[in-house]
Parts: sequence; C-alpha cells; structure tokens
Amino acid sequence: MISNLGQKSKQRKSLWQKKFSQPIKTLKDLIDFFGYELINHSPFQFLITEEYQKIFQEVHQKFRFQVTQYYLSLANIKNPRCPILLQILPDKKEIQDPFFKDPDPLREEENSPIYGLIHRYPDRVLWYVSHHCAVYCRFCFRKRKVSHRNSNFFSKTYNDIIHYIRSNPYIKEVILSGGDPLSLPDKTLEKTISDLKSIPHLFSIRIHTRMITTFPYRITKELCKIFAKHYPVTVITHFNHPVELTDIVYQKIQMLKFSGVIVLNQTVLLKNINDSLEIIEKLNLKLLRFGIIPYYLHLSDEVAGTYHFRTSLQKGLEIIRQLQGRNPGISIPRFMVDLPNGGGKVPLQNSYLIQYENKNKQYSFLNYEMNPKRIFYIKEKEDESL
Ligand code: SF4
Repeated sequence: MISNLGQKSKQRKSLWQKKFSQPIKTLKDLIDFFGYELINHSPFQFLITEEYQKIFQEVHQKFRFQVTQYYLSLANIKNPRCPILLQILPDKKEIQDPFFKDPDPLREEENSPIYGLIHRYPDRVLWYVSHHCAVYCRFCFRKRKVSHRNSNFFSKTYNDIIHYIRSNPYIKEVILSGGDPLSLPDKTLEKTISDLKSIPHLFSIRIHTRMITTFPYRITKELCKIFAKHYPVTVITHFNHPVELTDIVYQKIQMLKFSGVIVLNQTVLLKNINDSLEIIEKLNLKLLRFGIIPYYLHLSDEVAGTYHFRTSLQKGLEIIRQLQGRNPGISIPRFMVDLPNGGGKVPLQNSYLIQYENKNKQYSFLNYEMNPKRIFYIKEKEDESL
C-alpha cells in the first residue's frame, strides 16, 4: 500500500473540489433546486408525491442518487422526455427489472486477477480507480459497485496492480475507469499516469470519464499541465445527447486539445433519450464541431435494473445504416455490443457484402443506400503473388 493515495488530503481543497463537494444528493435538494411550484405544474409532478419519496429512498439505497448543479441546470422540467432528467432520476424499474437479473453480465469480476483490475483481452487492462462520479447515471452498467464506498481498494492494491502490468509484456494499453478517474485528486492522477508511463511496453493510456459532461469545471489548467507533461494521453468522453454539449464544454475540450490530449467519445444508446437518427446524427456532428471524434455507440448492456433503457439491436443497426453515406465518415461511431457472459466487445455492422461467387471469383455488394436493385461487383485478385 502506498501512503498518499486514496486518503483524505489535508491540503486545501482546489476550487473544483469545493464545487464538486456541493452536489445534489437528496430528493428534497432536487425539489428545492426547481422549486415546488414549478414541479407541481410540470410533467414531473410525481417527484413531490409520497409514493415517489418511498421509491426514491429504496432505489437510492441500492444505487446512490447524485447530480451536480451544473448538469441539473441543463434540464428542462417542462419536457416530459427531458434527456437530462431521464438519465438521472431514480426509477422503480431499477429494482423491479422484469428481464435483466444479472448485475455483472460482462463477467468483469471473473476476469480480475487483482481486485479492481479487469484483464479480459490479452492486450489491455481496465483499472477501476474510483467508485465516485459527479453524477450517477441510472443506466450505469457498473452500478453493482459504482457509488459504493466498499467497492474500491485503489490505494491498497495500487502497487500490486502496477507490478502486474509491469510484469505482463503483452499489455499494450491501460484504461483508467471507474466510477470516474477524474474524481481523483490531481496528485494521485499524476502519480498513476507517471508510473504507467514508466512501463516501456505500454503504448496507450486511456482515461474514461463522464466528468466533462457532468462537471466540466474539473478540467483545469493544472490538470491540463499533467496531461501535457505525459503526452500523449487519450481521454474518452461520454456524451449521450446534444444538449450536453455546452459552451463551457467547448472551452474545456479546447483546453484538453491544446494540451495534446486525444479526445474521443462514447455514447450509450438509450431508449426514449437518444434512440433516434435525428438525435444521434446531431450529437455526432456537434461532437465533431467540438473537436471530439465519435468512437463508440454502445448497445446498453444486460445489467440488472437497466432493461427500461435498452433499445433493440435492430434500431442501433438502422441508425448506423442511415448515418452511412449521409454524414462525414469521421462523425460515424462504431456500433458496439459487449457480449453477455463475458464474451467481450464486438463491432456490429450492416453487411454491405451480399455474396461471393466462386465460379466468377466475384463479390457482390450493396452500397450505403442498401437498395437491392443496385448491386456492385468486385473481382477477386487472380494471383496474390503479383
Ligand atoms: S459516469 Fe459512468 S461510471 Fe459513473 S454512473 Fe455514469 S455511467 Fe456509471
């Protein structure tokens, strides 16, 4: 165990830490934020009922409720399908899921050689460095442990994990995840990145964070200096809806980019929140304008308590199909599914290749229009040696 990690710092808190320490954590605070009257005349009137109070408490005990004032300020309480509120409000479906019963269908815990380190693919590991997030998203696929104090042994296992990565030359990439790695203090983050950068067989350090979406003030000059010092670092953001891309986010992304950070985004396809061509198209174009490359669009996982967020796989394929050929290629993310039972991630694609004719040595294709009346052909190369 190393001494200065994961322990409460006696130093003065930085400005972002002070702001982070004032999130909204109770139903009363939430109601106070909007005001009783406004809620009473809104589609979210249920928030002020006794019945919901009970549901809130019950759900909150299993997976905490928390939201930043910043993120809540993006909400529109008059919109019954407000994408911000639908992502953060506890719902009884979380504890009465009719279909998904498994809290860990991706078998992360079974693939952990050391608690907190997931080693599923030979070439990379994912390190659960924090159980904190600025906002707890109700669809979180790691809700079995995120937000739970006793789920994180970062400081206790730190040396063992660094040793494990150093001793395994097949590992090319380390993903810092959680929870949110940017909830760690700068000093801890810097030490972690610096220790990882000293391992010669690592090619990539990735930080998965939703903090830029939910609490962009976390991106400070000091943090950017750390990233610049350890160039290159990749940051994977998590934006699900165009309303999350605000002016302040734009400024913070610029700061990251000027510090040499590679910025990519992953989105989760969420029922009634962003599962339409119009929203996904707008989101990805806006990401591009912000200097962020859309990387992954995920089908949400089969995690207990999240069925109501799940869209059909067909819908995801259809959205990707419609984006193809009508949008810049770099604005189209890969549609991914993480296979249950620990199968791992695979990209899903509409197949443009229809068939291969052995006789003519010829492939037949559809193009982006997917019109069966328009077939295109490619002859296979006759002699591979030429
Ligand atoms: S920020 Fe990420 S880890 Fe945290 S609750 Fe949301 S989805 Fe889960």
